Amino acid sequence: MNLDQHFDVIVIGGGHAGTEAALAAARIGSKTLLLTHNIETLGQMSCNPAIGGIGKGHLVKEIDALGGAMALATDRAGIQFRILNASKGPAVRATRAQADRALYRAAIRQVIENQPNLQVFQQACDDLIVEGDQVKGVVTQMGLRLSATTVVLTTGTFLAGQIHIGLQNYSGGRAGDPPAIALAHRLRELPLRIDRLKTGTPPRIDARSVDFSVMQAQPGDTPTPVFSFMGSRDLHPQQIPCYITHTNSETHDIIRAGLDRSPMFTGVIEGVGPRYCPSIEDKVTRFADKNAHQIFVEPEGLTTHELYPNGISTSLPFDVQVNLVRSMKGFEQAHITRPGYAIEYDFFDPRDLKASLESKIINGLFFAGQINGTTGYEEAGAQGLIAGLNAARQAADLEPWSPTRDQAYLGVLIDDLATLGTKEPYRMFTSRAEYRLLLREDNADIRLTEKGRELGLVDDARWQRFSDKMEAVEQEKQRLKDNWVHPSHATAEQLNPLLKTPLSREHSLETLLRRPEMNYQDLMSIDGIGPGLDDSEAAEQVEVQIKYAGYIERQLDEIAKQKRHENTLLPTELDFAQVPGLSNEVVAKLNDAKPQSVGQASRISGITPAAISVLLVHLKKMG
Ligand code: FAD
Repeated sequence: MNLDQHFDVIVIGGGHAGTEAALAAARIGSKTLLLTHNIETLGQMSCNPAIGGIGKGHLVKEIDALGGAMALATDRAGIQFRILNASKGPAVRATRAQADRALYRAAIRQVIENQPNLQVFQQACDDLIVEGDQVKGVVTQMGLRLSATTVVLTTGTFLAGQIHIGLQNYSGGRAGDPPAIALAHRLRELPLRIDRLKTGTPPRIDARSVDFSVMQAQPGDTPTPVFSFMGSRDLHPQQIPCYITHTNSETHDIIRAGLDRSPMFTGVIEGVGPRYCPSIEDKVTRFADKNAHQIFVEPEGLTTHELYPNGISTSLPFDVQVNLVRSMKGFEQAHITRPGYAIEYDFFDPRDLKASLESKIINGLFFAGQINGTTGYEEAGAQGLIAGLNAARQAADLEPWSPTRDQAYLGVLIDDLATLGTKEPYRMFTSRAEYRLLLREDNADIRLTEKGRELGLVDDARWQRFSDKMEAVEQEKQRLKDNWVHPSHATAEQLNPLLKTPLSREHSLETLLRRPEMNYQDLMSIDGIGPGLDDSEAAEQVEVQIKYAGYIERQLDEIAKQKRHENTLLPTELDFAQVPGLSNEVVAKLNDAKPQSVGQASRISGITPAAISVLLVHLKKMG
């Protein structure tokens, strides 16, 4: 590396946020450097080797729609794929894949190493170069000073990371990795709001010591789902099943007896843990009346015997871990290969960030991933892509871009963080989005790929495939609108057995598909109507758009009304204390959150519609 060169963007950290950030910045043409502790751990999954799930799968599809790496890497590494909520409505259906940890790392590394404009350098970053309120570059562990127009921080759980197993604790970024102590000290000197959170992971188990014959096997779905718009089943490695076992009353007794040596229950750990991914000791205490919890026994990969027992994340002492694991069916002889542990780490209050993920306090410094109080690879990757994009846009003197809440879960995630902040590790759920019906996995490409192309994130191959799909969908929708079935026609005879009430008058194919009992595949099975589209994604799109047209229309109306607030910006110099008619409590909340728009202000808890009216009147007066 040439030491005198100036970078447009330096990304610190090669985890899920950092890799998407570096790739996005480089894709749009910025000269980018990815600085990370260890090149071997690029794209490393610190906890469960799985990608997607409800809400999270939506984020992965959106990252993909903007040209990101996560979905395609999962297609190359996934060893068991499922569609969750398959029997429910399209809004909450979600793809999830168990991944081979090593294959996932390799897939991410391959993309990184082949990305033009991107250099990787293995070095810890110990310091930031900040002049006034402007970031100017970074200083590495060996004292190299690297200059950059913008810097993206994606250091995950590593900032002042403290690992706990029972009452013993030591510094670490995650088990086996160093913490980032020097950088944590430096960041604490900057005027940023900072706090502590914690997360945990289960002990890993050697599959050769497990009796699978007494467990329930859980194979993946057939046909095997595909994650990326550019993916295919041909990319998937061998598919293998997961298994299910349960905790029992003996397990729970062992856990309760160990609580006096639990760092969580004895107050040694102060950081708040993830509510929706609690440790087993937390579950046993909080749900004391439940005498069993389901444990998914997930393979870590095709070339390792290690298993990930999903559901028994713990920081209990190691002897308690051994006993609790061995009390479960199939695990009686289990050999633990790595102990479970909890980790506490620094995170920064995301309310100090703009929607672009740039700091409101230090210009040119962007934050993404676990450092912003989120948990999960998908949440990290999503933020990384937006932070990297905007860091690169700023370096090129371009306006920032962030999706809105009605455009993407990415928008919901960033708006929730920047507006409301978080007191516990934040993870995505479909329930966090008010426009769920519009933000489906199946239309992530339709929502975002065109914008991604305009931003320079989407390459020619994806754009061509997307354009072909859109053309096929539009043509097919038109065909279904234009073609009618008369009750006396031979087609009606084949159709009637599929309908609740036989045809009594002429119907278009579009109105027939709208009937609840009808689906696209059945309609196309009828001579003279089918065969229809052979691209299953395009066919799904036609079906969803026609069936849910009414609901979609209603959500679009609501969004149009809400848009006015979203587009009304609050001047940065506005002193809320000077706005007549706002209560002291409202002023304090607005000053705390520093919303950028009236829409953001309206979502802060305790900001009433009356306060919003007062703000709007004041803005009007200001002209
Ligand atoms: P990371 O993936 O942690 O990546 C950070 C990267 O930055 C690393 O490569 C690191 O080496 C590098 N780095 C850090 N400091 C520096 C520096 N100063 N200089 C250079 N490089 C640096 N998520 C869930 O959804 N469910 C769970 O149950 C869960 N449990 C977890 C348990 C544990 C023990 C841990 C550690 C994480 C857990 N997670 C869980 C969280 C998940 O791993 C993270 O949310 C995700 O990895 C965050 O991605 P990231 O890119 O922000 O950070």
